[in-house]
Amino acid sequence: MKIAILGGGISGTAVARMLARDGHDAVVLERSERAGGLCQSSRFGEFTFDNAGGHILFSKNKEVLDWQLDRCGGEAGTVRTERNTKIRWHDRWVPYPFENGVGHLTKAAIVECLAGYVEAFADRRAGAECPPNFHDWVDWRMGAGFAKHFMIPYNEKIWECDLHRLSSGWVAGRVPEAPIEDILKSAIGFDTDGYTHQSVFWFPRHGGFETLVKGTIAGGGFDLQTGVSIDSVERRDSQFAVNGELFDLVINTVPLPRIESAIADIPAEIRADIRALKPISLVNLMIGVRLDEPLPDLSWVYLPFPEQGPVNRVTYYSNYSPENAPPGHGSFLAEVTHRGDLAPDGAWARSVVERLGNAGILVPEHVVLLEWCDNEFAYIDQDLEFQDRIDRVRGWFDTSGYITFGRFGRYEYHNSDQCIARAMEVREHVRTIAASGEPARPTFS
Ligand SMILES: Cc1cc2nc3c(=O)[nH]c(=O)nc-3n(C[C@H](O)[C@H](O)[C@H](O)COP(=O)(O)OP(=O)(O)OC[C@H]3O[C@@H](n4cnc5c(N)ncnc54)[C@H](O)[C@@H]3O)c2cc1C
Repeated sequence: MKIAILGGGISGTAVARMLARDGHDAVVLERSERAGGLCQSSRFGEFTFDNAGGHILFSKNKEVLDWQLDRCGGEAGTVRTERNTKIRWHDRWVPYPFENGVGHLTKAAIVECLAGYVEAFADRRAGAECPPNFHDWVDWRMGAGFAKHFMIPYNEKIWECDLHRLSSGWVAGRVPEAPIEDILKSAIGFDTDGYTHQSVFWFPRHGGFETLVKGTIAGGGFDLQTGVSIDSVERRDSQFAVNGELFDLVINTVPLPRIESAIADIPAEIRADIRALKPISLVNLMIGVRLDEPLPDLSWVYLPFPEQGPVNRVTYYSNYSPENAPPGHGSFLAEVTHRGDLAPDGAWARSVVERLGNAGILVPEHVVLLEWCDNEFAYIDQDLEFQDRIDRVRGWFDTSGYITFGRFGRYEYHNSDQCIARAMEVREHVRTIAASGEPARPTFS
């Protein structure tokens, strides 16, 4: 089949590679001058940075992890790291996850966290139901102490809103529950590991995270067209016309609000739903520093408190690969979310660096490079109406002959590995269509 793939991020390029392997004529149409989307990296002098915050290669799915590592040159092309993440809790460094680091807090905070946790645990045992909004979910699941000392301030920073207006649905399955024994042990000074998810991760040795996309394109066997604005997508009998050119199938990975106006046959009520899908944006500060001594052996650090400035997470980026910064230097990525109301400039960036200095992350006088990248689509605003809205949107696409997937092509809170897993599902779906000749409804696990 001749297949148009809209968007050249990891979702679009991965599915194009897989479909080309199956013998299809796959054409990726990408609006930017370079493929990569959220996986793009930038080079400034001898520094390399990722554009959309700290990215790591990791998957629970072995087939997907192997696929990712193969695209990045295997073990030789990647650096393997044991994750070491901390929370900057006032003047302390508390191991992450917070429940397992509770013993590192002040005695008063330990008591508040434990008392709240036991109370919440007892309430749940007595049948307290999972609340629909995220703020109350935090209390229900973690208790008032953990809520006050980390969960609420951190999440208010990253989601940039009152947490009562967010749904609790998105955390299901994402936040593993620490056994109560671990929390008690940690409180009296025993180290517990917490969740072992991502305890080891990989990163491309050269070129930043974008190497994953470059390795997907190289030898991929598909046609990548960049700098293409997609103005019209419409049905012509059993085919689709994209900017007037005929294709047998259209696979969308472009953020839905950016493609909706081009797709002619979307009904008005679905259009309204798509327009209500607001993203949360991310300014990613790229900071190069001169070093008198090596950076601490940290992967990333969470900054939950307003007095630490607007950054919610700092990645110790030169620890991911020695090639990310020149000798004698180190680098950080600092992530600041916003809802379209931040216009970063030099003065703002320097003020953020000052706050990072006050928080003990870096020495502002040692900064030799300061750049930033504003990413409009970074996180999904999972408000209380989100699930119903996105169910209607996905339902329309899935029954109308289009395939849509990707972080914002389907509005799934997915990392690149899950996008690749979805691409594998789409490949299977296209195999079904190719075998039967029927435009079957896609099934996603
Ligand atoms: C802060 C942060 C940290 C993350 N950390 C990790 C991590 O550690 N590990 C990990 O694996 N993943 C991580 N992710 C997730 C990862 O970045 C995404 O899952 C992945 O990049 C999404 O790829 P995609 O192709 O679905 O979407 P995108 O990368 O958004 O690609 C969509 C493409 O569509 C193009 N486009 C837009 N409009 C049009 C148009 N009109 N016509 C044609 N093309 C258009 C865009 O230019 C873009 O190239 C992180 C994301 C964020 C924001």
